[in-house]
Amino acid sequence: MKRTPKYAALAEEAFKANMEIPRLGLAILTWGNASAADPSQALFAIKPSGLPYEELTPDSMVIVDFEGKVVEGDYNPSSDTKTHAALFRAWSGLGGIVHTHSTHAVAWAQACAEVPIFGTTHADHSTRPVPCTAYLSPEEVKGDYELETGNIIVRTMKARALDPAEATAILVAGHGPFTWGSSAMKAIHAAAALEEICRMAILTLQVRADQGALPAHIVDKHWRRKHGADAYYGQKRGG
Ligand SMILES: [Zn+2]
Repeated sequence: MKRTPKYAALAEEAFKANMEIPRLGLAILTWGNASAADPSQALFAIKPSGLPYEELTPDSMVIVDFEGKVVEGDYNPSSDTKTHAALFRAWSGLGGIVHTHSTHAVAWAQACAEVPIFGTTHADHSTRPVPCTAYLSPEEVKGDYELETGNIIVRTMKARALDPAEATAILVAGHGPFTWGSSAMKAIHAAAALEEICRMAILTLQVRADQGALPAHIVDKHWRRKHGADAYYGQKRGG
């Protein structure tokens, strides 16, 4: 296949994000997938289904529209494509989505438990516990399973009044994590941070099973250091 030039940058971005999944130890075998979206074209590039990471190339990425229909590609898109499409449709301006089966995030998803904020690592990324969905119903699983996975993510975020621009991770009960961001690489960072936060939370509960959440004033301080008008973490650039 010859890649249409206007899709090349999107395919390259999706390829690079997908290659970060095994590099960061977020999935083995063919598990996991990343997508990169161009909201102005209502298109995204996503990993092909079932191909090992070492065989991926920018040209193997599949270009799909926001309805989940293939626009260009030699391969079938990831089996989770309809979940990605549902989120891109629901949340305008999203630039990328990542799904992994990273071990410690999956442990919380399989326990059907939200991840409490125990420390500043978590508070740097969100002021709220990482939400976990309910199980999908028998009807949802029998019907359009991947679409319903997207729907339950959107529903759960809404029910908890979580803004996807600020809370960029969720656990699907019995399954695993989905993360997102303004770019595919930001979604990868969210996936890597989530895995580490989940691991730290498990260790915290091993040290002290009845540990409570981090006090709100510390949560707030850490969030504001990195986000919003008064942020001062990092280096000032440009200007
Ligand atoms: Zn999965």
